[in-house]
Amino acid sequence: MAGILFIISAPSGSGKSTLVNALRSQVGGIDFSISWTTRQPRGSEQTGREYHFTTRDEFERMRDAGEFLEYAEVFGNYYGTARRSLDEAKSGGRDLLLDIDVQGAVQVRQRVPEAVTIFVMPPNPKVLRTRLRNRSRAEGYVDEAVLQRRLNEAKKEIENYSQYRYILVNDVLERAVAQLEAVVVVERIRQEGRPIDQRTKREFEIAEGCREANSRERLQPVLESFGILPGPHSQQYSLLETTDDHGTNE
Ligand code: ADP
Ligand code: 5GP
Repeated sequence: MAGILFIISAPSGSGKSTLVNALRSQVGGIDFSISWTTRQPRGSEQTGREYHFTTRDEFERMRDAGEFLEYAEVFGNYYGTARRSLDEAKSGGRDLLLDIDVQGAVQVRQRVPEAVTIFVMPPNPKVLRTRLRNRSRAEGYVDEAVLQRRLNEAKKEIENYSQYRYILVNDVLERAVAQLEAVVVVERIRQEGRPIDQRTKREFEIAEGCREANSRERLQPVLESFGILPGPHSQQYSLLETTDDHGTNE
């Protein structure tokens, strides 16, 4: 595709929607794919804005008609990305951001290997629980069983972190937003084959620090807090040395 396909995944409650909204308000030229889902709207969510909310029957009809680029069942509900989102971004030469789970990311990577993958982690399970609870409170309904299920799922999702090119730890929000923006800016510069200059050097440094291959020390306490043993990381990676390389950690 002419534009860049960004995939962002995170355990529910990590702050991915918060980060993506901040990105969209500050960086132009990036489309956001509105997924289809069979889950019920939460809080003030509206169909056509956060999601296209639909029935199981309609989702299965679309799936059987091959209308999805990828789909997955998450927490007992279907979620899917319409092929149309990608086609429209492609034909307009715009970047596209998919907010999808790890199962969906695997499917998209098979079809679009050059996709730029970003994983967002919460700093530890305690913070994740607090964020999930606060969000439920703000939406007017806290279901402890649902919270526990999402926490259990979080660990399983985080175990897949090393399949992603960039890893953000959403601890201090402003820092995580700056990291996400840096990743987008740097990937655009790279796609266009532009050199790093004084103006963009800082963004390169931030993005490089988020490369999975460069994140061993930063991620260790986070992984330990979730009871996950760090897997083998890819080789240390420097964009400054190899600006035309897309890395090997996918
Ligand atoms: P997700 O989209 O990953 O499910 P949300 O963006 O809905 O998560 O965030 C979950 C909750 O955590 C929200 O109440 C949000 O305001 C809050 N939150 C997100 N990022 C941070 C952060 N860095 N610090 C504190 N609270 C945060
Ligand atoms: P939530 O219900 O909290 O909005 O989302 C639950 C999970 O579903 C999140 O991990 C989110 O990334 C994922 N998700 C949202 N849309 C899609 C989609 O179109 N495809 C897939 N595979 N996952 C999705």
